[in-house]
Amino acid sequence: MGNFDIQKVRADFPILRREVNGKPLIYFDNGATTHKPKQVIDGIVDYYAQMNSNIHRGVHYLSQISTDAFEVTRRKVRAFINAKHEHEIIITKGTTESINIVASCYGRPFIGEDDEIIISAMEHHSNIVPWQMLCDEKGCKLRVIPMNDKGELDIDAYKALFSERTKIVSFTYVSNALGTINPVKEMIEIAHRHHVPVLIDAAQAIQHIAVDVQELDADFFAFSGHKMYGPTGVGVLYGKEELLNKMPPYQGGGDMIRDVTFEKTTYNDLPFKFEAGTPNIEAGICLTQAIDYIQDIGLDAIKAYEDDLLGYATEKLAVIEGIRFIGTAAHKSSVISFVVDGIHPYDIGVILDKQGIAVRTGHHCAQPIMSQYGIPGTVRVSLAMYNTKEEVDTLMVGLERAVAMLK
Ligand code: PMP
Repeated sequence: MGNFDIQKVRADFPILRREVNGKPLIYFDNGATTHKPKQVIDGIVDYYAQMNSNIHRGVHYLSQISTDAFEVTRRKVRAFINAKHEHEIIITKGTTESINIVASCYGRPFIGEDDEIIISAMEHHSNIVPWQMLCDEKGCKLRVIPMNDKGELDIDAYKALFSERTKIVSFTYVSNALGTINPVKEMIEIAHRHHVPVLIDAAQAIQHIAVDVQELDADFFAFSGHKMYGPTGVGVLYGKEELLNKMPPYQGGGDMIRDVTFEKTTYNDLPFKFEAGTPNIEAGICLTQAIDYIQDIGLDAIKAYEDDLLGYATEKLAVIEGIRFIGTAAHKSSVISFVVDGIHPYDIGVILDKQGIAVRTGHHCAQPIMSQYGIPGTVRVSLAMYNTKEEVDTLMVGLERAVAMLK
């Protein structure tokens, strides 16, 4: 595990020193949001104490340093995902907004009646509903890549979904409910054989897997800051220049214009065309600290550590009486979803919380997955780089206690 120093990592996250219900916090809800290292928290305080000013507007000093810091983030993101150009990086509110921008600004002009959009059976609602809204408006249709009982997409069925009506493909890199890592590069290649662009929802990948959007040849790529140790209210939409250039703006307002008269408005160049209004400035700026944090440790070291922990936790949990894992794909990342015979996931979540252990229970904004498995929801343990084997051992004790109480 190379230079990965778990004690040093944990010391960077102040919240890990707090107690919940009289017990040391054990946080396994990282798929929902991760905690923030002190570097990010300090960055936010520093922004308000030293820089606070609107960006891209003022000639004055504070506005200039805020603007520069915000643009540093854009440069960081470009390098982090190896985009070709800085102006291909649109700073958004998060993955949800990034996907909505594509559904709206690519979908409305370029997808028409009876055209088809391919998504997968394991999408988060934010990669289903925007496309459904487009279908309602335009009369286009959703086609869904099926998945098997292990939670793996059926690639032959995917190949068979394409027709001359297919206009875009949009699917998740890693499933938030199952942990499945999809064969993204292969799936993009298949779509490109049909000249169809692909959007990758990387909300659950960006914090675990090193990404190169040019190598993947992704056309659009979306993720959120808050799931990668960064602030809430900031995310990224990467899009290839030629696609973003032919799309109309998402919202109208300040910053996205070149000239405004009452007769006609002309729009700004990329990336500002898609960044109307004042953004969440401190979050945008402090995404830099989150990326620096991840890069200082290195995604390969993080992945090796997390994969080892995932294997350990899966093996441990398997001995719980009546446990059934939901999602047993060969390639998985950092998520263990399960049900226990005869026990509602919610009840397990409540009892674990009493012991200071945070897990997620429910459908995880992926109701179609739960329908496929015929369950209302799961208990989800989602790991981050600051979790430990000792925490997994404590979870085991808590789970055994919960199961004994609830049986
Ligand atoms: N896609 C996936 C796979 C997710 O896990 C999430 C967040 N749970 C989202 C999209 C939406 O992200 P956000 O709420 O940050 O916009």
